[in-house]
Amino acid sequence: MSHRTLIATCDCRTTHFTLTLPTNTLPLTVHLCHCTVCRRTHGAPCSFHAPVPLGNEPVFIAPSSLDTSLTGYVHGPSAKSTRYFCTTCGCHIGDRDCKGQWYISVSIFQEGDSAAWEIASHAYTHSTGDGGISGLLNVIDGRKLEVWNPPQDTQGGQQEATSNALLGQHVQRQEQADGEDEDKGEGEEDQTLLAQCHCGGIAARISRPGSSKSDPTKKWRAFFGLSRDARLVTGTHVTGWLSVGKERISPPIPTGTLCIGTAKSYRSSKNVLRAFCGVCGATAFFVSHQASQAGIVNVATGILRAEEGVMLGSWASWEWISGITSLQDGLRYDEGFACALSEGLRAWRIKHHGDTKGPAPDDELDT
Ligand SMILES: [Zn+2]
Ligand SMILES: [Zn+2]
Ligand SMILES: [Zn+2]
Repeated sequence: MSHRTLIATCDCRTTHFTLTLPTNTLPLTVHLCHCTVCRRTHGAPCSFHAPVPLGNEPVFIAPSSLDTSLTGYVHGPSAKSTRYFCTTCGCHIGDRDCKGQWYISVSIFQEGDSAAWEIASHAYTHSTGDGGISGLLNVIDGRKLEVWNPPQDTQGGQQEATSNALLGQHVQRQEQADGEDEDKGEGEEDQTLLAQCHCGGIAARISRPGSSKSDPTKKWRAFFGLSRDARLVTGTHVTGWLSVGKERISPPIPTGTLCIGTAKSYRSSKNVLRAFCGVCGATAFFVSHQASQAGIVNVATGILRAEEGVMLGSWASWEWISGITSLQDGLRYDEGFACALSEGLRAWRIKHHGDTKGPAPDDELDT
């Protein structure tokens, strides 16, 4: 039987492993999980996971090892799996369940090609409140993505017997308590938006821009990142960011370290400082040199808990995918995904922001 070896590294390269699979199991089927646990442990719009055929597992390349390079996080008493992320840069590599089966983060492999992976579905979209990026990512390379939700939900129930049944069992086992612990975290009285990772070790409140705290028409700028760095510190194809004036975040986030609570900082390039949670691995903040000069801290949207849903409703004005470099990175890594996302975002902006001219990529940003 012929095999193919796929190679994965995180951004800092402390985590380095191969995954060798029989070619007749490829491409592996990828699901985008939008559940609250995935969003708040990754800090991203969703996770990008593929179940690895049982009996196959990552082989770490020394000095990298599961025990010395990675931190494990068990998300609650009912959790049947451990989520692993790089201790140095925060990159999620996937989950391993109690039977030894891996659900691997496909975004960290050198091979982003369609012969290795096929993004097939969205899962747990109802936990987003507004559909999240499933609302702007319906078709990739002419292939329609399925949407799966738990059986107790009518719409999800109709699809339970589809090819997503296996995925459903997995996700459900891991994240049953998902909908129950929904903490929207939006203060009715003070009109602030809670940013909090899954473990709660990083927590801050954001108020609206402008001089009046309670003016609901004021929005912060939001954007998607497709850069190689953002992908490899998060473990997802795409990251979402809300650009917030640092004077509107409480407690204050020190721009020199970005560290509050359990945050750890990591410099992904000379120009960019990032922070993630050292306990649950959530990507939390980044600042570029330019953003720092302008008094802006970018907050990962996966840890934001807006009443209106994960696209942040009245809090965010979504702009283009950040930076021409970021878009080029995304196209180079997975052209089908990057094209589908940018087209979907264009349509979404027309519908939600009334934008008809279409934005231009912003060269000033970097993520
Ligand atoms: Zn999930
Ligand atoms: Zn790393
Ligand atoms: Zn955390």
